[in-house]
Amino acid sequence: MPSCSYCHELGLECLALDSSRRCRNCVSANRSSCDVWGVDPSAFDAMIAEKQRLDQEKEAIRQQKKQLRENSKRVREQQRALEARFRKVVARELRDIDELEREEGPSTSAPAPPSLVGVEDFASSADFSYWAADPSLLDSLDAVGGTAGASQGNSGS
Ligand SMILES: [Zn+2]
Ligand SMILES: [Zn+2]
Repeated sequence: MPSCSYCHELGLECLALDSSRRCRNCVSANRSSCDVWGVDPSAFDAMIAEKQRLDQEKEAIRQQKKQLRENSKRVREQQRALEARFRKVVARELRDIDELEREEGPSTSAPAPPSLVGVEDFASSADFSYWAADPSLLDSLDAVGGTAGASQGNSGS
């Protein structure tokens, strides 16, 4: 025995009247719509409208979820890009420190050659001036030059 939604709601026994579209309870309650014989057209329209409204709401929620997914994806990508940038900067900092340490390594021994050159310059210039100022040194220089000249003359003739 079918029961209309009104009777079903109130737990009443739904007695359909063949002569009326409405059941006895709905007639006595003076309800305009009774769905004992099926859905009332106006109620059906209302339900379709309601379903469309819910569909639209669902679609709106779906769009919001899609937007949220896209937002979270964008945020994740930005976070990844930021992390990559951060890693790159840190790697560059570490590389700079490495290069600094590498540059500092030779630089401790680098001053040695210039100082050696300076010592050589000092020795070559200062020693000759000392020899020039000291006659005894000049004599010894002459002796060395003489032997050198003699040997050169021997080989020349
Ligand atoms: Zn009923
Ligand atoms: Zn009814």
